[in-house]
Amino acid sequence: MNAATTASPASDTATANPTAINRFDALADQVLDGNPISREQALEILKTPDDEVLNLLSAGFRIRQKHFGKTVQLYFLMSAKSGLCPEDCHYCSQSKISEAPVPKHNILKRDDLMAAAKMAADRGAKTYCLVISARGPNEREMSAVEQIVPEIKQKYDLDICACLGLLSREQADRLKACGVDRVNHNLNTSEEHYADICTTHTYADRVGTLRNVRDAGMEMCSGGIIGMGEKHEDVVSMAFDLQELGVQSIPLNFLNAIEGTPLEGNKDLSPHDCLRALAMFRFVNPDRELRISGGREIHLRTLQPLGLYVANSLFVGDYLTTQGQAPEEDYQMIKDLGFEVTKSTGETPTC
Ligand code: SF4
Repeated sequence: MNAATTASPASDTATANPTAINRFDALADQVLDGNPISREQALEILKTPDDEVLNLLSAGFRIRQKHFGKTVQLYFLMSAKSGLCPEDCHYCSQSKISEAPVPKHNILKRDDLMAAAKMAADRGAKTYCLVISARGPNEREMSAVEQIVPEIKQKYDLDICACLGLLSREQADRLKACGVDRVNHNLNTSEEHYADICTTHTYADRVGTLRNVRDAGMEMCSGGIIGMGEKHEDVVSMAFDLQELGVQSIPLNFLNAIEGTPLEGNKDLSPHDCLRALAMFRFVNPDRELRISGGREIHLRTLQPLGLYVANSLFVGDYLTTQGQAPEEDYQMIKDLGFEVTKSTGETPTC
């Protein structure tokens, strides 16, 4: 990929094949000039033929490079409470309707949470993501988070992202006060598609939590899952809702249709579909952190490195209930691309 690649004027390319001209560079120019793309243009990106996906990524790389250079930020996930969730999110192996054999435990003890923080720091992660399975945190879980967050931040150079489910404004204020930097709460899909993937809470509930997080003065991390039977319009709608909410960080997952969940066996995605979606999110949210998240190993497969030409972040290690690839493979991939892992301090860990 050459960031400097631009369409050659037709007069200079009498012998050039017109299909070699990168039509996406005009779109990148539009974004780089500060003019947002329209929903129609975003929809067109999702319809890019496979043969043109490299051109799309090349143009998207120019946007990524302007805002993030060649840096890659790593996140480390810790499932602090697993299973036992009363909600019915159809994609989730921890929901009350899932029959998947996932670990079931209440919030982990201090020592386990500290050991995971050490692992996150050792792996060069910028952010430690503390996740519980819940509709929202109960008082015991809130207190546990309030106790552990200052301790982690005192000992390690890690930002803390809490993913605790739906939050009231008062709970958001308490998280801010104890040192939580960011809260993750994914929109997951569009408002129109939401009732097809969850019936125990609404899209509006999720948006409400994000507003509480924002109003409490924390950063918002929110993204979605591709491959849940949604239409292109749903994916575009989610990307624009995230833009309008002003989320700072966008994790994009690709459905890992776990056996025992209502969406099991759903394997609609090709590697090119994943790349188109990542590129569209980059064009719509040019300066926002874009993280290739769950499902990258099974859906992008050998094309994972190409995703980093538009995304600038990865989870390193395992996901909540599924395995990721070995961290060493991620470090090698980043190094082979000529990119570098950065932390908030600007350090580069040994790869
Ligand atoms: S609220 Fe979270 S943990 Fe519970 S079912 Fe939904 S996604 Fe899973």
